[in-house]
Amino acid sequence: MQADRHAWANQGMEELGGGIYRIPLPLPGDALTAVNVYALVGPDGVDLIDSGMALVQARERLTKDLALLGLSLGDIRNFFITHVHQDHYTLAVELRTTLAGKVSLGEGERVNLEAIRAVHERHSDPGFIEMLYGMGAGHIADQVRGFLAPGPGDPQPGLAWADPDRWLTDGAVLDLGSRTLRTLHTPGHTSGHVVFHDATGGILFAGDHILPHITPSIGFQPVIIRTALAEYLSSLQLMLTLPDSKLFAAHGPVRDSTHSRVNELLEHHEKRLAQTLETASGEPVTAFAAANEIPWTRRQRKFSELDPMSQLLAVGETAAHLEVLIARGQLNRQRSPEGIESYFIPGA
Ligand SMILES: [Zn+2]
Repeated sequence: MQADRHAWANQGMEELGGGIYRIPLPLPGDALTAVNVYALVGPDGVDLIDSGMALVQARERLTKDLALLGLSLGDIRNFFITHVHQDHYTLAVELRTTLAGKVSLGEGERVNLEAIRAVHERHSDPGFIEMLYGMGAGHIADQVRGFLAPGPGDPQPGLAWADPDRWLTDGAVLDLGSRTLRTLHTPGHTSGHVVFHDATGGILFAGDHILPHITPSIGFQPVIIRTALAEYLSSLQLMLTLPDSKLFAAHGPVRDSTHSRVNELLEHHEKRLAQTLETASGEPVTAFAAANEIPWTRRQRKFSELDPMSQLLAVGETAAHLEVLIARGQLNRQRSPEGIESYFIPGA
């Protein structure tokens, strides 16, 4: 079972037809196992969707797999990056320093990149740690801070978090010669996440917006916004307005239908919204208290059984659901003098 679940990550490069190759690149000590980079090979070079993380092992893997196609790193024309998370962005920035490839990123990630750099310069906490105090989970902030301090294998901040060469606007058309992609802004996973749609080929390069096995984290980024889940749900609806397409996602195997997975994700979040509303049916709850009352992961684990990093994500996720319930008029929010926010059913 376990072997099957990770086959997409461990079985090497996969040819997908039409000059497209899925290249899984390793991620260190990461539950995600690997990140898919898609190589689009044309007569004049190769363009990549996402780049992987700036790690020696990832760079070596990419070099080897491109060599199987008769290509080298120097043949990369473009890195089209779906979002600013380091497993997608940082290898592109590193390779650009020695090679010709141009890096493109959604313009909505500009604020996140600026915030990441500010965090490194001032040694301050990113928003996803700061937010924990108001959510009643300050003790998790203290635990997680140590994990997130840069380690010896991490990319150098100054190098990895440079601006891209090009900011992609919503709707930007990318003419690759043998193929045309349209950029679509799909905020939610991060504020500036984009997907790339190949209408002729019936393919969606979905980044982390639609993942086949797991639900993407919501708004896990340096600049925290309350509307992240509302935006994510709209971005999922947007995918249903496109023709059903093949799903080429950043983590997991290729799937035949974007629509079937989008519908599953929408259903999942409606169920989570109902569970989250239930937690506020008595006394007002903080996001932390609400997160403690709902089951987590596919295995329905208790919140207290999660590691601190997963607890951080779980509290953020719960807050995102609580905020959607506010937007829908089903909950209200109050703030204590200490700045702790709790949620309650209006008129209850
Ligand atoms: Zn990712």
